[in-house]
Amino acid sequence: MRPRRLSVKLTLALTFILAVTGIAWIALTLFSTRLYQEEVDQRLNRDLANYITQAYPLIENGAVNQAAATSLFDKLMVINPRIEVYLLDPEGRLLSYSAEPGKVKLDRVDLAPVRAWLGGNATLPLRGDDPRDPQAPKPFSAATVHDGGTAAGYLYVVLGGEEYQSATAMVFGSHILRLSLGVGGGGLLIALAAGVLLFAWLTRRLSLLTESVDSFREGDFQSPVLLAGWRRDGDEIDRLGIAVEEMSQRIADQIEQLRQADAARRDMIANISHDLRTPLASLQGYLETLLIKEDSFSAEEKREYLQLAARHGERLSRLIAELFELTMLDSTGTRLDFEPFSLTELVQDVAQKFNLEAERKGLALVTEIPGDAPFVRADIGLIERVLENLIENAIKYTPAGGEVRLTLVAGKDGISTRVADTGRGIPPADLDHIFERFYRVEKARGDAPEGAGLGLAIAHRILQLHESPIEVESAPGHGAAFTFSLPLAQM
Ligand code: ADP
Repeated sequence: MRPRRLSVKLTLALTFILAVTGIAWIALTLFSTRLYQEEVDQRLNRDLANYITQAYPLIENGAVNQAAATSLFDKLMVINPRIEVYLLDPEGRLLSYSAEPGKVKLDRVDLAPVRAWLGGNATLPLRGDDPRDPQAPKPFSAATVHDGGTAAGYLYVVLGGEEYQSATAMVFGSHILRLSLGVGGGGLLIALAAGVLLFAWLTRRLSLLTESVDSFREGDFQSPVLLAGWRRDGDEIDRLGIAVEEMSQRIADQIEQLRQADAARRDMIANISHDLRTPLASLQGYLETLLIKEDSFSAEEKREYLQLAARHGERLSRLIAELFELTMLDSTGTRLDFEPFSLTELVQDVAQKFNLEAERKGLALVTEIPGDAPFVRADIGLIERVLENLIENAIKYTPAGGEVRLTLVAGKDGISTRVADTGRGIPPADLDHIFERFYRVEKARGDAPEGAGLGLAIAHRILQLHESPIEVESAPGHGAAFTFSLPLAQM
């Protein structure tokens, strides 16, 4: 089904309003023209009845003066056939009249309007009974007929006795009415056309917006709405458009993030199960072998197998601990425990812990620390974890004779920490990925209990929670250097 368009609805509504207005206006024009015509007619003939009674002695000696009446009726017939003259007795009964006898249907006229007329203050047009057409009262003129000084009845002149014209006849008969109706109708048509154009213009952007939103929805919320040239400081439609544009951008981003998170979660589960299975299988393998060959193995062999099993058990528990750590860092409820502390001391403490291991590997662990560095503000436990992971890697990936150097540089806003080594470095192709979970440069997951590719991911996540990025530089064969910055504590 084709959706309804707003401009069409508005146009229909406007057409309806204009049609109703037009019809009401025509009806009002015709009605008031008719009233005006009657009023003018009655005003012009205000004294007609008076003149007649003065000129014609219509009642003499208590009886109708037939000769005078006939002469009057004949004259009127010639001069103005639109009027009908009736001679009434004091109760309003018809004594004589000019109309054809068969056409007169009343024998008596209501005297109330006649008295109002004679009172002189009536609002015009004032209508009274038309004896020929009792259903349609007409404007009239009236006067008292005197007989030798006393009131003997009334002369009642019905104006427009031939019937006022019907509305259509009025319109067709009057050039002025035709003209004004034509001009009015034309005006309404022009208003309608202007309205249609205006609606089309106003709703154009709304239609565009609706189409964009529709296609955004049909495209699975992937490509956000783009509206070229819409202004943030424009009218309501412009602002609505900009808001929709931004919202769609956000929806698209979030859906993309959800997709990525979902893919990452799936990868992670695959990796976790793989990484857990490998050491577990080895552990199981060594223990089972031991059980089977318990009798044939020498004490030394038994010890070697137990050591191997223990190493895999260690690797397993370390992996589980790291996974747990990452999960904790990821959960939205993680609250960092920010406090001011001396980074210098922390780095020295951590370096101390690794001294022995470095020595055992034949490496120099060098620290380059300024004497009076200010305090930083961070979660000390988590930063210690970052340092441990970085130093551990540096030692792990640097051969004997090399050097691991820890450098602190105090700046205006913070202290930057750098952990650099002279080891094998990281190939450029891997540099972008080493902070990803389970990413390892050495792809083969051998039995070597080296690590699961979570150390850097944990460091990265911790620094992300501190809103400070970690950077890595490396030239293969010339070592790697990791740098991050922590803000100074406000003292
Ligand atoms: P792993 O537990 O395997 O060391 P990490 O997340 O700590 O996992 O490191 C990811 C990968 O980055 C490692 O597999 C390693 O190849 C590389 N890497 C990390 N630190 C260094 C370094 N200092 N020198 C060379 N390679 C490094």
